Amino acid sequence: MQWTPDQRRRRRHFHDFAARVIAPGSAGRDRAAAFDRSLWQALADEGFWAARVPAEYGGSGGDLWDFLAGFEGLALGADDCGFVLSAVAHAGFIQLLLDHGTHEQRADLLPRLVGGAVGATAATEPGGGSHVAAITTSAVRRDGGYLLSGSKSHITNAPVADLMLIVGRVPEAGGHDITLFVIDAGQPGVERGKAEELLGQRTSPTGAIEMDHVPVGPDRVIAGVGQGLETLYSFLAFDRLMYGVVAATQLENMIDLARRHVTTRRAFGAPLAEHQFIQDKLVDMKVTLEASRHLAYATVAALLRDDPDLGSLASCTKLTASEGLVRAGTELIQIFGHLGFRTDQGVERYLRDAVAFRIAGGTTEMQKKNIIKFLLRPRPASDPAREPVPAPS
Ligand SMILES: Cc1cc2nc3c(=O)[nH]c(=O)nc-3n(C[C@H](O)[C@H](O)[C@H](O)COP(=O)(O)OP(=O)(O)OC[C@H]3O[C@@H](n4cnc5c(N)ncnc54)[C@H](O)[C@@H]3O)c2cc1C
Repeated sequence: MQWTPDQRRRRRHFHDFAARVIAPGSAGRDRAAAFDRSLWQALADEGFWAARVPAEYGGSGGDLWDFLAGFEGLALGADDCGFVLSAVAHAGFIQLLLDHGTHEQRADLLPRLVGGAVGATAATEPGGGSHVAAITTSAVRRDGGYLLSGSKSHITNAPVADLMLIVGRVPEAGGHDITLFVIDAGQPGVERGKAEELLGQRTSPTGAIEMDHVPVGPDRVIAGVGQGLETLYSFLAFDRLMYGVVAATQLENMIDLARRHVTTRRAFGAPLAEHQFIQDKLVDMKVTLEASRHLAYATVAALLRDDPDLGSLASCTKLTASEGLVRAGTELIQIFGHLGFRTDQGVERYLRDAVAFRIAGGTTEMQKKNIIKFLLRPRPASDPAREPVPAPS
């Protein structure tokens, strides 16, 4: 995979923009657990969300790779993983509308999401997040539409969102009833909790949504009643590959930080960089960076060709990226010794932010469950994966 010259320019542009506009003050926002809406608006004004959205919906008509080039630039330059994960949640909403929205839904919602509105996607409930099919938020049919009631928790962007994609169910639809709804935050019956106090990702406002008989028109049902789980399939794959993209950029920055330290700090008469146990940590970071990034790219390609192994590949990406990132965060502190353990040096933030990667977007355990399900599933006789591997010549 190679970026085109235009994509490279886009990556560089958003890297420089993020370094100039978003990175300043990021450590203070992390301490204060603050989301700066003006930065979000500045990013939208810079045309960040327009890539990949057709011009008729307020975009500039690029493709997914164009969007990812800009996203990598943002994630590399922003020095603000929470802000970037808020952007991942928003990007997932846009992706879902592009893949599954009707023309009317796209025309109604995309210009807002491209222009600075904040989107949230809400599946997790106070009763649990791993078992998505067990959600209890439900919609009863009323006057040709629905009244939606239920509670969501730990939802990225919920405290500041303008538009929220809600995973609910329509019990009258029978066994196949999981359904996706879009609601406006200002609708009657919608209440949002305060941002939760988090260990990491503190600049990403995360919280609860309460819905009490919220009226939703049939035009705000995405992909049809009962189609929620199937629709979430490609959404989750996208979300999980984005964790791979972001983890790789975090690792790139962590390696830079570590490299500066190990080449200047000395122990036993030599720079730390000359000690093999230290080198081993840097090697592991580099391998995780490349594995996360290239698994993410492979998942993008699988998404674009509708590959049947998409879900498994996306889980491999997320598992590799998030486990490797937490390992790297721990070792980064180790490389810095007591300086890494201090909370005023900007080293420990990488680990605090990394821990969320193992939970949000489906936990590590759920990725393993997904991968093993794919591995053990019955396969048709014509499945190319059953072809014997040719002997090496
Ligand atoms: C920073 C952050 C942002 C988030 N943003 C969003 C968001 O935007 N939208 C959203 O819908 N949710 C969001 N979440 C919630 C997240 O998706 C859930 O936390 C996650 O799905 C796990 O659900 P849970 O926390 O309820 O854990 P539980 O489902 O209660 O699971 C608890 C533990 O048990 C394990 N476990 C559960 N079942 C099994 C099993 N069968 N086998 C082995 N282990 C199992 C889990 O892996 C986990 O380790 C976010 C979470 C975080 C931390």
